[in-house]
Amino acid sequence: MKKHVGKCACENIEYCFEGDPINTAFCYCQECQKHTGSDKWFGLWVPIEKFKFTKGKPSVFTRIGDSGKEVNHNFCSNCGSTLAIEVIVGNFYSVAASTLIESSFSPNMAIYAASAPKWAMFPEGVPKFDVLPPGLGE
Ligand SMILES: [Zn+2]
Ligand SMILES: [Zn+2]
Repeated sequence: MKKHVGKCACENIEYCFEGDPINTAFCYCQECQKHTGSDKWFGLWVPIEKFKFTKGKPSVFTRIGDSGKEVNHNFCSNCGSTLAIEVIVGNFYSVAASTLIESSFSPNMAIYAASAPKWAMFPEGVPKFDVLPPGLGE
């Protein structure tokens, strides 16, 4: 199985995951806008058991998601990069595609589009959902 490796900007923290993500999503929710400083977060959804931190210890910011369950943001307290967000309700990490050393992924959906800022950019030909596609999450 292919192993994917990523790290933060200062390289204090590294992680890896095995195999392909179960989903690759642009998320336009307000929390993602805040922690990226951008219109969206490009998250690679990786089952919790396939993902691990291999170097350093991330700081964690916990918030309560729409589901009422915790969402744990793992970030580097030195450089500020967010590496992976643990989504308890879905039992997966949403890994920052931008932190992968080698990334060949592209988004297969755009979620929380209703929360996007007016200046948001949406990829062409990618299905767009106001919140989540039917049957996913919540
Ligand atoms: Zn760092
Ligand atoms: Zn989001």
